Amino acid sequence: MNLHEYQAKALFAEFGIPVPRGRAAASAAEAEVAARELGGERWVVKAQVHAGGRGKAGGVKLANSAEETAAHAEAMLGTRLVTRQSGHAGLPVDTVYVEAASSIQRELYMSALVDRARERVIVMASAAGGMDIEEVAASTPEKILTAAIHPAVGVSPWQCRQLGYGLGLDAGQIRELADIIGKVVTLFHRCDASLVEINPLIVDGDGHVVALDAKIDIEDSALFRQQRYEGWRDEGQEDPSERDAREHGLNYVSLDGNIACMVNGAGLAMATMDIIKLHGGEPANFLDVGGGATAQRVAQAFRIILGNPNVKAILVNIFGGIVRCDLIAEGILTAVKDIGVTVPVVVRLEGTNVRKGRQLLAGSGLAVVPASDLRSAAEKVVGLARGQDT
Ligand code: GDP
Ligand code: MG
Repeated sequence: MNLHEYQAKALFAEFGIPVPRGRAAASAAEAEVAARELGGERWVVKAQVHAGGRGKAGGVKLANSAEETAAHAEAMLGTRLVTRQSGHAGLPVDTVYVEAASSIQRELYMSALVDRARERVIVMASAAGGMDIEEVAASTPEKILTAAIHPAVGVSPWQCRQLGYGLGLDAGQIRELADIIGKVVTLFHRCDASLVEINPLIVDGDGHVVALDAKIDIEDSALFRQQRYEGWRDEGQEDPSERDAREHGLNYVSLDGNIACMVNGAGLAMATMDIIKLHGGEPANFLDVGGGATAQRVAQAFRIILGNPNVKAILVNIFGGIVRCDLIAEGILTAVKDIGVTVPVVVRLEGTNVRKGRQLLAGSGLAVVPASDLRSAAEKVVGLARGQDT
């Protein structure tokens, strides 16, 4: 689950990580009141969407008066903000965050995430802050510093010094950075985060280190034990198909291609996407219907994958280990009939009751293309998506 910047900064403040003073607002009037209550002479109005790159897209504006703060809020609220991370349709701006503006000497980068290869939480830092970190990693990887945090020992002072010197900070700033790193790692563990990112972490006009932006991703599998996030989810920011799938217990991720996949098991789903790409196609989604797939779940899954207008063909790849292939075949037939599937469906079934399952499909009279193995299934579906007969 992603958090909004204002939610992430509330957590930062709770853990003692320095952030500028700010207030969330859902209307221009609230934004104006927020500016007056915060005081000072300059404010920043920031669109609250689950995507970075807001600055370049007009979602971060400086204001020199409370009236101007209200005007910026008015212009942003109710619109959709398109950034390089938001997708073409953009994301709705229902809330803005009004902050007392900071003066900036330097923009740095810092994050904490799980490095699966090292089996550690790592802290990454870079002097190239305020920029797209993927770009920095691709073009100048030497500018990214990392420290792997030992799970028993925690953050060591020498690691903080190493990062701090690498960022070109002075002794006082290194102490502040060390304090921030320790608190970010504590927050990461206590809040079950999968990512905490501060971009930019600034050296402000007075030479202090402050988190100017905040991005936190929470590990979905840990939500059950984190009562604090009750009511924090903003469904308006989520992909409607992904939300729909989650509510039905299906594991679904939207992608950019045109071949929809329906697979049981995450590993098989990954392999299916790989083999589609190997044959020159592009998957439209990742979908794991789960080990205990039933006819109803298969029908739900069809409904969700067909909600994507880009889909030109569907590949169903089911291995009947726990599930029975005849039940899956029934589910496919029900879905094709009830939902009125108009794109070609290639089905590869293997495992328990496979013969019965194949017989059901073959005898149905519906336009379902059987495939005997995964390679021929991929060849057929890629051809059909291109509009070729197989
Ligand atoms: P993002 O573009 O979505 O990552 O939004 P950020 O919160 O990172 O803001 C983008 C950029 O706006 C920052 O890199 C800063 O350069 C600028 N910015 C944000 N807040 C302030 C502020 O308080 N003062 C000044 N001078 N610039 C700011
Ligand atoms: Mg940022």
